[in-house]
Amino acid sequence: MSQRFLIVGGGMIGLTAALGLRLQGHRVTLFERGAAPAFGEATELRVSAIAHHSRTLLQQLEVWQALPEERIGPYQAMEVWDHDSFGQIQFHASEVNQDDLGAIVENKVLEAALWQQAQRAGVELLAQTEVSGHVISDDQVTLTTASGDYVGDYLIAADGTHSPLRQAAGLPLTFWDYQQQGCVAVVRCSKSHDGYARQVFLPTGPVAWLPLADPHQVSIVWSADNHHAEQLKALSDVDFSKQLQAASDGALGQLEVMSERAYFPLRMQYAQRWLQQRLLLLGDAAHSIHPLAGQGANLGFGDVEALLEITASTFGQRQLRNWERERKVAALQMIATMEAFKRGFGNDQPAFKLLRGAGLRLVNKVAPLKRALIKSALG
Ligand SMILES: Cc1cc2nc3c(=O)[nH]c(=O)nc-3n(C[C@H](O)[C@H](O)[C@H](O)COP(=O)(O)OP(=O)(O)OC[C@H]3O[C@@H](n4cnc5c(N)ncnc54)[C@H](O)[C@@H]3O)c2cc1C
Repeated sequence: MSQRFLIVGGGMIGLTAALGLRLQGHRVTLFERGAAPAFGEATELRVSAIAHHSRTLLQQLEVWQALPEERIGPYQAMEVWDHDSFGQIQFHASEVNQDDLGAIVENKVLEAALWQQAQRAGVELLAQTEVSGHVISDDQVTLTTASGDYVGDYLIAADGTHSPLRQAAGLPLTFWDYQQQGCVAVVRCSKSHDGYARQVFLPTGPVAWLPLADPHQVSIVWSADNHHAEQLKALSDVDFSKQLQAASDGALGQLEVMSERAYFPLRMQYAQRWLQQRLLLLGDAAHSIHPLAGQGANLGFGDVEALLEITASTFGQRQLRNWERERKVAALQMIATMEAFKRGFGNDQPAFKLLRGAGLRLVNKVAPLKRALIKSALG
């Protein structure tokens, strides 16, 4: 039976949910307080590594096909190394009979394609419309905006990590602060990136170089302890580029920052409840994780994928509770994995470093172990 969904948040996750629900025949209104997504010629600052399962969902919704090809950066290989122990591991898509391990896409480019497809499918899209309040009763939800009230059957909060809806609903959070900031920027490299996503673990945090469609451009995420992040902020672009190049061990030749640098405080958090009567939390509103494995948005796409399985037929609280349980397990597993990585690589005791280096070298040499790791990274 067709339901009316009100979705707050026009980021990647809210838009994907809106489009998927609309294509199933539900009526959907989406509220976004910002402008409709748009992008220019220059590479956007925020990018995401899109995993296979997320791409499949976006293909089913005919969004992937609508992306400009010159803005998609498929990556065929991954190289991860430990600065201190010289341990290193390399994965190649061919080792698991795949063409690539995923693709790097600019968030705004993906959001713009989602917005366009949602509009075509008949989602009512309200840009520059901030939701300021909500009321949930046993049989309906009401949203308040400056232009009036809206009534629906279900309310989806896809309003990001600070989720005003989650806060207003009083849904408690479990969280810890990583005491790190993630610096993102677009960087030119004199050597081709050859389709490799690279990541080094420094004692002060991991640095990732994500290959863009242009073989001489990468997007970086430098997750640095707060103190180190403040030092990085004070550097000129030239000095920052030199430090970035030193961290890369020369893998990409000369590096030159070609965009502004933006810093995001990094914190792990998840809502203890993702469902309250007719209110559901999706994406970053429900969980945020460390960007070191590029899985935050992928987890959100997983939430949408699982929700769409339920909303495809008649559903009620029982099915939604099952959805909540299943997705919480997926998020907690991801959080635990990120934590193990972060703590494992953050530990600078000499014996631990030795073990870490030996462990990485071992996994790199033992084919079945390596294949298992690649498959889990593919999601
Ligand atoms: C440095 C960094 C690197 C990352 N790299 C990756 C990666 O490689 N791969 C990956 O999978 N993930 C990555 N992530 C995570 C990813 O960016 C997020 O998980 C994803 O953007 C979350 O999308 P969302 O739609 O849930 O939320 P958001 O993108 O935050 O969207 C929320 C929207 O809600 C709107 N909104 C909020 N309140 C209201 C209101 N009251 N009324 C109306 N609208 C409202 C906001 O304007 C916003 O547009 C990274 C994160 C960081 C910080």
